[in-house]
Amino acid sequence: MADGKRVLIVGFGLAGMSAAISLQKAGWEPVIVERAPGRRRGGYFVGFFPEGKKAAKALGVFDKFHFRTPKGTETWDIRPNGDRLWSPGFLDQPADEEQGGIEGALRGDLEEGLWQVAKDICTVRFNTVPCAIDERGDVVNVRLRDIANGAETTESFNLVIGADGVRSTVRDIVFGPREKFIKPVNSMICAFEMDAPIPTLEARDGIMICEVDRALWVFPLSDKPPTVLLTWRVDDDDSQFTRRPIDVVREVYGDSPHKRMLGAIFDQLERKGEGEYLYDSVNKVQMDRWHKGRVVMLGDAAWCLTLYSGMGATSAMKGAVELADAIAASPGDILRALRDWEAGMRPFIRKHRIITMMKAEVFVPSSRLRSRLRHQLMRMGTRSLLKRRRNEACSIMSSEAA
Ligand SMILES: Cc1cc2nc3c(=O)[nH]c(=O)nc-3n(C[C@H](O)[C@H](O)[C@H](O)COP(=O)(O)OP(=O)(O)OC[C@H]3O[C@@H](n4cnc5c(N)ncnc54)[C@H](O)[C@@H]3O)c2cc1C
Repeated sequence: MADGKRVLIVGFGLAGMSAAISLQKAGWEPVIVERAPGRRRGGYFVGFFPEGKKAAKALGVFDKFHFRTPKGTETWDIRPNGDRLWSPGFLDQPADEEQGGIEGALRGDLEEGLWQVAKDICTVRFNTVPCAIDERGDVVNVRLRDIANGAETTESFNLVIGADGVRSTVRDIVFGPREKFIKPVNSMICAFEMDAPIPTLEARDGIMICEVDRALWVFPLSDKPPTVLLTWRVDDDDSQFTRRPIDVVREVYGDSPHKRMLGAIFDQLERKGEGEYLYDSVNKVQMDRWHKGRVVMLGDAAWCLTLYSGMGATSAMKGAVELADAIAASPGDILRALRDWEAGMRPFIRKHRIITMMKAEVFVPSSRLRSRLRHQLMRMGTRSLLKRRRNEACSIMSSEAA
């Protein structure tokens, strides 16, 4: 074991790869195991926030990211009568002085950027899952199963990171049954990339159709057709998995007044094969503690805030950077490092958990009253966006004049 610094990372997602990179920089030897047979590419639209940009720079991956933030994009809030109201979009959230604005990408773009660095510094074993974790002194013994052939081996590590997503196995084994930690939000999502632009919409523009209990968002990209996010509220998640996703979706939006546009979008969804779209229930993860001994949870496995937060990728990278920093700051005392890391990271997650409750209502209002409040909020947002754009235009004009 290289100087007692061998770390097992379970999960080859954004959190897992970020942890591999940050810990390798801190002198650790990372091994990633992943249940899937290979890498996941493409996927859904991800807004990447300034805090994420800062973390990506610390990881040395920022320049590897291919962003697809559309230039000159406008967002249209489509009302039930078909009126299009110019509105602030997801990417119009205020910029940070140091890091700039939010960037748009596909999840796979971030994955690819991380992989460009991770591939040279860590071992990745696909088709592999943990099935037992046993901590003895400074060492954690992990039984790993190759799910392709059923072979099992036990290996020793000095740290185990559970970065295996909402339905984490590491959490099941070390912290207890998932029912304790996974909290259903009573919502569903279906997200996919369009193969062709949406009729009647400029390629660089986005739309949102946000009605009580159901919404459709179209996120434009600079160099690809847009991605679509459908999200709707439900009483019971299980009932949403008994039929083909396309049949559920057509039923949920069946009486929408925007038949022509939705028809074109759903026809494209219907042509997609398995793995070309994401269809899932929305769940958050809440744990009182993210670490136990030398096992620590990271990313969605630890704190999933849901897609409504828009902070999953950002918080995964920030968490990984801060974890390695805390470990480097307490050499030889991993338990103290994990405690310090958790104490430092919790306020950020707590803050975004609260903000997410409001953001969820912006994505998909849960009552008529909230829908009206959302509408007012968007009007206020439109006014401040106008003001911001006017100020930007003035400062460009005055710097040109100077
Ligand atoms: C539709 C949608 C839109 C989103 N939009 C945004 C956004 O705008 N901005 C943003 O920042 N975030 C967004 N997110 C959230 C963001 O994508 C996630 O928070 C982030 O990707 C989580 O990364 P992760 O590595 O923690 O988990 P995951 O991506 O879930 O990775 C976990 C990995 O662990 C593997 N695994 C699972 N179980 C095992 C096991 N037993 N053994 C080995 N491997 C295992 C899985 O196969 C997977 O590869 C969005 C999410 C969705 C679904």
